[in-house]
Amino acid sequence: MASGILIYAEVTKSGYIHPVFFTLAAKAQELSAKLGGAEVSALIITSPGKTEFFKEGFEKCGFDKVYAVEDLRLAQYNTELYAKAAVDIIKEIQSEIFLIGATTQGRDLAPRISSSIPTGLTADCIELDINDKGQLAATRPTFGGKLMATILCKKYPQMATVRPGVFKPLEQDVVKNTEIIYKTPDLNITPKVELLEFIKGVEEEINDLDSAEIIVAGGKGMKNSDGFKLLKEFAKVLGGAVGASRGAVDMGLADHSIQIGQTGKTVSPKLYIACGISGAIQHIVGMDASKRIIAINIDENAPIFDVADIGYVGDAFEVIPEIIDKLSRK
Ligand SMILES: Cc1cc2nc3c(=O)[nH]c(=O)nc-3n(C[C@H](O)[C@H](O)[C@H](O)COP(=O)(O)OP(=O)(O)OC[C@H]3O[C@@H](n4cnc5c(N)ncnc54)[C@H](O)[C@@H]3O)c2cc1C
Repeated sequence: MASGILIYAEVTKSGYIHPVFFTLAAKAQELSAKLGGAEVSALIITSPGKTEFFKEGFEKCGFDKVYAVEDLRLAQYNTELYAKAAVDIIKEIQSEIFLIGATTQGRDLAPRISSSIPTGLTADCIELDINDKGQLAATRPTFGGKLMATILCKKYPQMATVRPGVFKPLEQDVVKNTEIIYKTPDLNITPKVELLEFIKGVEEEINDLDSAEIIVAGGKGMKNSDGFKLLKEFAKVLGGAVGASRGAVDMGLADHSIQIGQTGKTVSPKLYIACGISGAIQHIVGMDASKRIIAINIDENAPIFDVADIGYVGDAFEVIPEIIDKLSRK
């Protein structure tokens, strides 16, 4: 009989645990209570000696157990090796629910795991709950974001990937005496893909949308590369990061890695400034959890104003330089 909730603790290339894990940890406490106090565990796959380094974090987030797979071959993410390790552990411990952050790595790893087990996977969820039959009810946007679908999984573990930024981390520590259990799954497979070198884009390095407290996002209304240059300058004086709508990405003004919305990132900064973005539902689902939203748009009827706390009707190319000028002088 499957039981307990397992959460994947993704160790990022920079060597920390991805923030989405801590939001899932908070949600898991809620789900666990609805399941009558189900055990909450983490799965970490990493290089030797790393797990102990994160122990305090696991303890403060209410984890009963941490299953750790440490091996030199796992120092860099590899789909096949990571999936093999995860599948072996999941089969052994028989979790009822397995949650993974819908990060680039999570989106790559989760389907590989679910098809190997095999079990169902609800991808890119924005809400999780337990229904009256004790099943995981995973909600995600569908039909281009026009409908929300709540999906149940018939097999175990019930798997879901969850977008970063949709849940909040624990407000107060839930301290547990976490037990770390080291596992040594058989990793004697020859992966078809070998990572030779990872070259991080300069943009990605300095423009971390997951952790930015202020995001200045641009849409088609920013028109050209000069428009995005202006946004970068704006973000710089505010100490924020730059995001984009799909409209802007499709025009080649911004890279897909900074697209916000249904098919991009979900963000929840303290301040989101939407410049020349109309406010299509597919964009809104990726940013409406932001604490404060300011919209700058030339069209007073643009739907973005429906979700904005402050709206400025006007030309972004006129107002942004004015704000930059005022902020710079301060
Ligand atoms: C399956 C699916 C998934 C999608 N996923 C995403 C997603 O992840 N993210 C996303 O963003 N979209 C997504 N879309 C696309 C979405 O439907 C919209 O087409 C897109 O968000 C529009 O981008 P935009 O607001 O930049 O462009 P537009 O809708 O063209 O809006 C441009 C805005 O700029 C304003 N403007 C023009 N000039 C100025 C100026 N000088 N100053 C100020 N304002 C000005 C205009 O008034 C207008 O409101 C998806 C669509 C589908 C079907």
